[in-house]
Amino acid sequence: MEKMIDLLTRISVLYNIPQWAVNLGALAIFIFLIATPFIAKKLMEPKYYKFREMVMFNVLWKWKYRKDEISLLWCYCPTCQGMLMCDDENCRSTEDLQNKNTFFICNDCGGNEQGRVIGGDRRYVLSLVKREIWRQIRSLEYIETMKKSKELKDTLLAAEKLVEEVTKEVSMDEVVAQETLSENSKEEQNEEASLVVPEQKNESEIAESIESKEVKNGI
Ligand SMILES: [Zn+2]
Repeated sequence: MEKMIDLLTRISVLYNIPQWAVNLGALAIFIFLIATPFIAKKLMEPKYYKFREMVMFNVLWKWKYRKDEISLLWCYCPTCQGMLMCDDENCRSTEDLQNKNTFFICNDCGGNEQGRVIGGDRRYVLSLVKREIWRQIRSLEYIETMKKSKELKDTLLAAEKLVEEVTKEVSMDEVVAQETLSENSKEEQNEEASLVVPEQKNESEIAESIESKEVKNGI
């Protein structure tokens, strides 16, 4: 490190460049050298590497690529995006393919079934999905799938925003309604109070008049 600083100082003196400019240049070269392999790797990646999710059997499948192989393939809830649980217990107790079912269950959505595949256990389902992914890659159909998936996401996002705005408006209306209600009840209370006060006055006046009458009559 000391040698590096010494070298940078010597360059600064030799070429009459400010020290900060030499340091900045050295830092830029260092970052470039570090980042180049990553950028090159990213640029060299096959285009289909962007294809990382699709809907199949009514559930969302996500995966990654590792050395041109599909890895970490699993199913997710189309509603809450949470990881799904695969229930394929029944596959062990039967040899009949029609009775072999794999259910996709979302615990975050009340343990509801999100989809199912008839004909085999989870390994069978995973192999079907993998086969479909490669088929779409080979036929370039994945480009259309990605486009549709993006459109669906945008629509869902817009719907979520709309729901948020409506909820906000409704809550604002409720606040205004409550405020109006409390103002009205205050006014009613005031009116009641104004009605009650004269009555009290009347009662006291009546009492006073009775007393004065009693005094007059000498009682
Ligand atoms: Zn869910």
